[in-house]
Amino acid sequence: MNDLKRILLKLSGEALAGDKDFGFDEATCLKVAEQVKQITDKGTQVAIVIGGGNFWRGRNSSKIIERTKSDQIGMLGTVMNCIYVSEIFRTLGMQTEVYTPFMCGAFTKLFSKDAAVADLNAGKVVFFAGGTGHPYFSTDTGTTLRAIEIEADAILLAKAVDGVYDSDPKTNPNAKKYDSVSIQQVVDERLQVVDLTATIMCMENKMPMVVFGLNEENSIVKTLYGEFTGTYVTV
Ligand code: UDP
Repeated sequence: MNDLKRILLKLSGEALAGDKDFGFDEATCLKVAEQVKQITDKGTQVAIVIGGGNFWRGRNSSKIIERTKSDQIGMLGTVMNCIYVSEIFRTLGMQTEVYTPFMCGAFTKLFSKDAAVADLNAGKVVFFAGGTGHPYFSTDTGTTLRAIEIEADAILLAKAVDGVYDSDPKTNPNAKKYDSVSIQQVVDERLQVVDLTATIMCMENKMPMVVFGLNEENSIVKTLYGEFTGTYVTV
């Protein structure tokens, strides 16, 4: 994987919460920051998208308010996540920028491809917060969209599970992990990688994905520069 020069790393919101169900686990976030520092020090450009499940999910966090507003709360949750993780990165001396697809005053910058790519070329870690900016989408779709826009070499999906399985390993002890799987197979068999909208975008735009477990020691660095134990989704 060490031929990947520009990556988009997707972290789930739940992963940031560590063993808690809500908010942030600072130790977990620091471990991510230390690994990203190693990667950027080696010259790999890193953009990051963070989900919002540690705060709010538009689909099911409220049973009574309307979905559009619920999704807006979800998107704002991802902004909080990115501001927090960006600041954790800065404590280790990394330079960062947080972009959103909507105005957040002085808190973030309005996304533009040119500005984000210029930041990456200057060695900054860029965060894409706020998803696509639209309800009824997910940060999976935001991840795919931004990865394609910034011409990333691949999307790295750091998950609670350590790869792509033929069935859910939490419920099926005999579930088989794939070393590599084609994106067509992901669509045909509805394998759990990213949601279907995001999968189709990756297929149409030939964006490979790499799935691995965030909880394993040093897994982001190992995925790029060491022994890869996750699943490669080919296009
Ligand atoms: N969200 C949205 N549009 C986007 C990205 C996210 O409306 O482009 C909202 C949505 O409510 C979602 C929440 O933000 O539930 C958190 O995003 P994430 O992708 O983590 O949600 P999940 O798919 O896990 O519910």
